[in-house]
Amino acid sequence: MLRKLLTNGHIRCARRFSSSKAIPELTKDRYNVKRGEYSLLTDGHMAFFMNLLGQNRVINDPSECESYNIDWIKNVRGQSRCILKPRTTEEVSKILEFCNENKLAVCPQGGNTGLVGGSVPVFDEIVISTALMNQIESIDEISGVIVCQAGCILENIDQQIGEKGLMVPLDLGAKGSCHIGGNVSTNAGGLRLLRYGNLHGSVLGVEAVKANGEILDCLSTLKKDNTGYHLKHLFIGSEGSLGVVTKVAIQCPTKPKAINMAFLGVESFDSVLTTFRRCKNELGEILSSFELIDALSLDVVTGHYKMQSPIPQFPFYILIETHGSCNEHDEEKLNRFLESAMGDGVVLDGTATNQPSKMKQLWELRESITQGLLMDGYVFKYDLSIPIKEFYAIVDVMNEKIGKDAVRICGYGHIGDSNIHLNLSFKEYSKEMHNKIEPFVYEYTSSLKGSVSAEHGIGFRKSKYVHYSKSPAAINLMQDIKRMMDPNKILNPYKVLPESS
Ligand SMILES: Cc1cc2nc3c(=O)[nH]c(=O)nc-3n(C[C@H](O)[C@H](O)[C@H](O)COP(=O)(O)OP(=O)(O)OC[C@H]3O[C@@H](n4cnc5c(N)ncnc54)[C@H](O)[C@@H]3O)c2cc1C
Repeated sequence: MLRKLLTNGHIRCARRFSSSKAIPELTKDRYNVKRGEYSLLTDGHMAFFMNLLGQNRVINDPSECESYNIDWIKNVRGQSRCILKPRTTEEVSKILEFCNENKLAVCPQGGNTGLVGGSVPVFDEIVISTALMNQIESIDEISGVIVCQAGCILENIDQQIGEKGLMVPLDLGAKGSCHIGGNVSTNAGGLRLLRYGNLHGSVLGVEAVKANGEILDCLSTLKKDNTGYHLKHLFIGSEGSLGVVTKVAIQCPTKPKAINMAFLGVESFDSVLTTFRRCKNELGEILSSFELIDALSLDVVTGHYKMQSPIPQFPFYILIETHGSCNEHDEEKLNRFLESAMGDGVVLDGTATNQPSKMKQLWELRESITQGLLMDGYVFKYDLSIPIKEFYAIVDVMNEKIGKDAVRICGYGHIGDSNIHLNLSFKEYSKEMHNKIEPFVYEYTSSLKGSVSAEHGIGFRKSKYVHYSKSPAAINLMQDIKRMMDPNKILNPYKVLPESS
């Protein structure tokens, strides 16, 4: 039965985050890390920063520093007593030049929504926050290329360029808080990668500051520029370990004139795969998102937030979105697809809509899962690329291994990109459980030739597991690049690369 979407009253929005009261253990204790040989911050160093930025843009009050020291999932905690808020590239350059000369370690920070512990200090690294670097510098309405500072919030950019008929080719649940510089530095994927590709394609240029303070202007706005090595790629996805991204140029597509969505219930994972295949065939170029939610993931938002599902209980739910230029055609295509998929019994129930408020409700069901899971207690989160046929088996494997010790073991994510978010929640953190899950979960992923990080990056949490997805030769080359670009290892230490670097 195909229903029109039910209106269910208030749905809580997951996009702006507030800190819960729980404070995690210090990273150095929980993970037994040894501090690198960096200088300790002195009054003289602080005086330099105050002189450069003024008192208001240097935070050293311990209570004000706290939120910059704790990550979003409350897994890691550093002890920085110096948060710097530059406004310009030149200020970032002077900060890094000084830190490099004085062997002071730094941690670049955007919206601090990263999920792998990369965005907060491990010890006392100086935090360079891009929060005040928030200007859109240019919007070219003809080419669709925008240039903006690294600290622009993703949602703000989307709203501003939306008025000119453009959209950012990236969307994720943290859009109300994450910064575009953070997105580029993590090579964030998100909800529509299936349609708009990843940031290695849509970022045309990057301006970054190297560890020694040198400003590297690779801020090309050209779609084609084959002049030697494509240096911008060094900064896309390197998570602040090779430089601080200060500006980006992005190719933005035209905002779609027609958007349609469907929320479907199916009986098995095989039916999810059949639906995906048919969807690609029948919706073709208009398919913009294909997301999977399993029953326990949906329970997170129906349980904790009392959101209502528009359809009854099924083992798996699929969220489909189309972006096109003619609503009549797109609606007809989607309806034809739904009628045939339901006629054949592949899809058992569903709802379709193109009303903005109802589409927003559907997205909120999906986007609120990440935040809602934190209400279970402590969450072990894994962001894995797994060949699509085996995509969901890992949830069953972990259920067998961990079983009733967990509050919940669930999977959801970007099935259109073969990227599952595996989550295991417990009442509280336990070392014993941690050791039971890791490295098993990475070994299993590697045995399937998957990736231990599909889109969240390596950060602090996964640095010792990179070898499950990269060969020794590749890791050596990464270490050579790091040594060349940051010989004093001041940029985001303890992250991305395995310890021996
Ligand atoms: C609810 C929720 C949903 C999410 N959904 C997705 C999703 O669908 N897809 C996805 O890919 N991610 C997702 N994430 C993870 C996260 O939002 C992304 O990784 C995002 O790109 C991080 O941006 P940020 O500005 O918060 O960066 P931060 O968390 O501040 O930093 C992330 C990393 O980038 C580095 N960094 C930040 N800014 C700079 C800079 N200017 N120069 C150099 N290095 C820098 C930091 O040092 C750190 O290593 C989600 C997170 C949440 C909380």
